[in-house]
Parts: sequence; C-alpha cells; structure tokens
Amino acid sequence: MFLMPEITSKAMIGIIGSGQMGQGIAEVFLHNGHPIFIHDTDSNQLNTAIDSLHKRLHRAYEKGTLDANQKIHFLNNITPCHNLVQFASCDLIIEAIIEDFDTKTSLFERLGKHQKNTCILATNTSSFSITSLAKHVKSPERFLGIHFFNPAHHMPLVEIIPHQTTHPDVTRNITQFITTVGKTPVTCQDSPGFIVNRLLLPLINQATILLESGTATADAIDTAMTLGANFPMGPLALADLIGLDTCLSILATLHESSNDSSLKPSSLLKQYVANGKLGRKSGEGFFRYSL
Ligand code: NAD
Repeated sequence: MFLMPEITSKAMIGIIGSGQMGQGIAEVFLHNGHPIFIHDTDSNQLNTAIDSLHKRLHRAYEKGTLDANQKIHFLNNITPCHNLVQFASCDLIIEAIIEDFDTKTSLFERLGKHQKNTCILATNTSSFSITSLAKHVKSPERFLGIHFFNPAHHMPLVEIIPHQTTHPDVTRNITQFITTVGKTPVTCQDSPGFIVNRLLLPLINQATILLESGTATADAIDTAMTLGANFPMGPLALADLIGLDTCLSILATLHESSNDSSLKPSSLLKQYVANGKLGRKSGEGFFRYSL
C-alpha cells in the first residue's frame, strides 16, 4: 500500500552535497523554518558550508530581514551530518552532489538503508535521466527531480520532474510544497536537460566555440549578449557561475542522448576543466574571481 507522504511546514529536510547548490538549497529551507540535515563526503567542504550558512544568516540579521530569535532558531536548525544514518528522520532528502551518474547511484543505494518509509527522495541533477536514476533508489514511486537554479536562495524557478512511476500524490505534494518556500515550480517530463538546460547549454557551448575560434574575446561575447540580447549576464559569466565542470557534464549528457554535433562540448571547455579552471568556485574560469 502507498503511504501518503507528509511534507508539511515542519518537514525535516536532508541535503546531500554541500557545494554551491547544497548551500543555496539549505538556505531556502532554513529561511522557511525547516530543520536541515546536511552531508558531504568532503568534511572540509562541509565545514566551509556550515560556516558560510552561519555567515549568511548573520548577514540577514544585520540587514534586518531576520530578528535575533529567528537567527538563533535557524542556526539551531542546522545539523551537519558525517554519516547517512543521520538522515533516518528526514521527510524529504534532496541530493545535490557532483554531476556524476555512478557517484549519484552509489549514494542512492547506500542511502536506501537509512530512509524512513514515507521519505521522498529528490535529485537536483541538471541533466541525468530521472528514470535511469530511479532504478537505484529504494522507493521509485517516492523519487523525482527537484531542480533548483543557482544561486538557489535567489532564483525563483524550480523544475519538478517526475518519472513514469513517481506516484502522482508525490508530484502534487512536492509541487505544492515548493510554493510554500517561495518558489515557482514548473513541471516537466523526464527528458535530457529538462527545460532550462536544454535551451541554455547549447548557447553556452556556442559561446565557448566562438571564444576558441578567436572571433571575439570573453568580454566582447558577454557584452554583446547583455547589451544586444538583453541578457542579465553573458553566457560565459553564467557558465562560470554554474561551474565549468557541471556545464561539461551536462553537455556530455545532452550530446550522448541526442547525437546532435552542436551539443558536443567544445575542446576549450574541456581544457578549462582539465586545468582546474572551474569558474567562480575555483576562482578562475573565463573570468577571474576572488574567493
Ligand atoms: P559543487 O561542485 O559545488 O558541489 C558538489 C558537492 O558534492 C561537493 O561539495 C562534493 O564534495 C560533494 N560530493 C561529491 N560526492 C559526494 C558523495 N558521494 N556524497 C556526498 N557529497 C558528495 O556542485 P554544485 O554546483 O553544487 O552541483 C551539485 C548538483 O546540482 C549537480 O548535480 C549539478 O548538476 C546540480 N545543479 C547545479 C547547478 C549550478 O548552476 N551549479 C544548478 C542546478 C543544478
């Protein structure tokens, strides 16, 4: 029998992966009063993430968007987890680890031993098939894509991607729940890149090809698209924000699934990733950043 999930305003939220997305997603739920459990296999990264969440809550307090009681309450709502056992009480777990299929499926297989029966599991994958990932989870009917955008605390859109056997009550419940944390959900069928990345990543790839060919500098390409196409930021700066490793992985998945040669990741993008230039998170990509 299908047990109706209980995702309410008191839901305990598990977040696995404490990189850029994990931190932003944590902030969304903290600001809506949810207790969050957050894990990363890299304990230094987990410590950095906790520190950064504390600083962000403190900044919100200084700006007057949180009062002193809320700040203390939200800080107490953060539980750093060094072990997946600690996720046993979570009502909703969102996976936000690196965009690597085998790493994600191996995590799901280990996590299955610790999820409670009513827990809904979601992936924040940018490009992998939800149907393929579902083969590795404990309860496929309680599994779906919940795709936040970067920076997650700021961007209003969330793509909701059920697969064929996601229970309709789960999709309905999650779609409704996402609105309670101030986001706008759009539902999309399970298809490569969903909506935004299917449209955005080909543009980013073409921008890197233009740069590689020497047609224009990175500055010129981004200026052209901000002033000429009215984009809020240029495609190369956006690629740096997403992370060049993540862009490469999404493009590789899109290319593999479509066989469309225009989606083949450019050699310049591959070169940047091979050299550790990952964009904002590493301090350098197409542009330089202070960390
Ligand atoms: P990131 O590189 O900033 O963070 C990934 C984190 O996952 C790292 O801290 C790493 O230590 C951790 N990790 C790796 N393997 C792990 C494991 N087995 N268990 C626990 N933690 C593990 O990446 P990100 O930009 O935060 O992206 C995370 C996910 O969100 C990816 O699937 C990505 O495609 C997706 N996403 C990214 C963006 C974006 O703009 N960056 C937007 C939407 C979705």
